[in-house]
Amino acid sequence: MIITIDGPAGSGKSTTARRVAAQLGYVYLDTGAMYRAVALGFLRADVPRTADGAAKVLPTLRVDVQYRGDTMQVLLGGQDVTHQIRSAEVDHVVSDVSTLAAVREYMVDEQRRIGREQAEEHGGVVLDGRDTGTVVFPDADLKVFMVADVDERARRRQQEYAEAGDTIPFEEVRAEIEQRDRQDRTRDIAPLRRAEDAVELDTTDCTIAEQVDFVVDRVKAHPDWGT
Ligand code: C5P
Repeated sequence: MIITIDGPAGSGKSTTARRVAAQLGYVYLDTGAMYRAVALGFLRADVPRTADGAAKVLPTLRVDVQYRGDTMQVLLGGQDVTHQIRSAEVDHVVSDVSTLAAVREYMVDEQRRIGREQAEEHGGVVLDGRDTGTVVFPDADLKVFMVADVDERARRRQQEYAEAGDTIPFEEVRAEIEQRDRQDRTRDIAPLRRAEDAVELDTTDCTIAEQVDFVVDRVKAHPDWGT
């Protein structure tokens, strides 16, 4: 069973995908975390966020994911960077890096490989990102597109920063989210968009439990569920 959850920043994808996977005994693949690790690689190598920069840095980068119980960890060159990739600095550059064709090719290949392997081993995988239902797995068994009001998304993101010890003004967080969404929606390759066969869920007024139930109920209603 392959389940994809796409949508803009802060719409609730990651929390929902992680919990749906845990509830069903499936594996969670956070594709945004992989793009973030590549962005961190660009920052560390101090190369421009251009095709030339990608040609220079990509051959030296290795992004891996590993699982500790239900938690997905991201490794860059063998080093666990799960926490470093959540910084405001990475937030600021990740959309630029994600527009580059060479970066997307590398990521999509890896995400398909990991997704297939994990689905084979555990019966299912839940991916979240921007193009997981349109590009990575266009034949996914269930596609969800999550949206939420921008103020609510900014509030959630501001809280995540606060939990990580960063105090960032609300207006700044909202402007950054809007800028990232604009870039993700308008890029040439694999822009953020709802797949035609995706079900849409507006999480503005949803509890996390409601979001999770929405997806789990649809997985259980799938003709291949339990086969
Ligand atoms: O999901 P998250 O906010 O961590 O993703 C960070 C960034 O990675 C997004 O803003 C987007 O630019 C990029 N991304 C992408 N395709 C995906 C997942 C994330 O381009 N499938």
